[in-house]
Amino acid sequence: MQTDFIYEALPTRVIFGEGKLDQLLPEIERLGAKRALVLSTPQQEAWAQQIAEQLGTASAGVFAGATMHTPVTVTLKAMEHVKASGADCLVALGGGSTIGLAKAIAVRTGLPQIAVPTTYAGSEMTPILGQTENGIKTTIRQPVIQPKAVIYDVNLTLTLPVGMSATSGLNAMAHAVEGLYAQDRNPIISLIAEDGIRAMAYALPIIAQSPQDKEARLQAQYGAWLCGICLGSAGMALHHKLCHVLGGSFDLPHAETHAIMLPHTAAYNTPNAGEAMSRAARALGTDDAGHGLWQLAKNINAPMALKDIGMTQADIEKALDIALKNPYWNPRPLEAEGLRGLLERAWAGEPPR
Ligand code: NAD
Repeated sequence: MQTDFIYEALPTRVIFGEGKLDQLLPEIERLGAKRALVLSTPQQEAWAQQIAEQLGTASAGVFAGATMHTPVTVTLKAMEHVKASGADCLVALGGGSTIGLAKAIAVRTGLPQIAVPTTYAGSEMTPILGQTENGIKTTIRQPVIQPKAVIYDVNLTLTLPVGMSATSGLNAMAHAVEGLYAQDRNPIISLIAEDGIRAMAYALPIIAQSPQDKEARLQAQYGAWLCGICLGSAGMALHHKLCHVLGGSFDLPHAETHAIMLPHTAAYNTPNAGEAMSRAARALGTDDAGHGLWQLAKNINAPMALKDIGMTQADIEKALDIALKNPYWNPRPLEAEGLRGLLERAWAGEPPR
């Protein structure tokens, strides 16, 4: 048992359950707010408009320009809508991209946010904002970035395509796996991480076969919540840093990159994080976390190889150079040979070692 730690709970109110979107207006009122600007991607605009209509006079309209990587140019455009509409609160309806936009506005205005997640990425549970300007992504962490309330309504996840459900679910599991071996881990986060992995590992194979299965979708959303708590509360290591390099330098898609890399980073760290990885393995119902994750990804038809999502073989050396340039804490030291092998296997789609 871990006997030396610091635990700090992050203050977000969570409303969980089927149909809970109907709690949006009371939640806005609970914040003391009167006019909420609803944010979404262009793809989810029709939903956002519907929600704005239901809010009636409590709506300050819709801004449907959220996009990947939270570009500052988009945030500035959204800020004009905030000013013009007199919004005193933000509602983010969508995945990590839309929630990222709400966070970017909140950090500039102090406006409170309510997140209504429709993927499993987990951003709603963190005080972290990643944004891009002139092609450079920077990450900041501040209490004002953390949404005040999160509404998890399973009905909003039923349309998440099977492929995105798989990659988004594995993205979520990565937060929990790294939470288990984090340098600043604690017993509460470890409990949360283990149950988050268990819930996702149970739900994803069912969703792959029956995307409308509400019970499985509820479990996945519960898992996403728990895994998101891990991301917000524990320091991330090799897996998130490598995915950051791959996404930032080679423009690889976020959730797919996480899905492909997770079995390999788990296997790399297993020799130096025995207790953590046996808890991950137990949650997966297997005796080896890296192989268990690889098998799960395969079973749910997730992408298995970086070469299939836009990375060239020549990029492996470049990625390795960048990854080794900025050292950070990881349970297993960053070794060039070991990391080269990891990247080669992830690139080719081979099982982890
Ligand atoms: P996303 O938000 O980019 O969504 C991808 C696409 O799926 C969008 O077109 C969206 O409109 C659509 N979509 C979302 N939910 C849907 C649904 N239920 N049905 C149909 N379509 C749906 O994807 P994501 O993976 O959720 O988020 C990725 C982004 O979030 C990345 O930029 C990542 O860096 C960021 N992120 C940040 C944190 C954090 O703590 N700051 C955590 C996780 C992810």
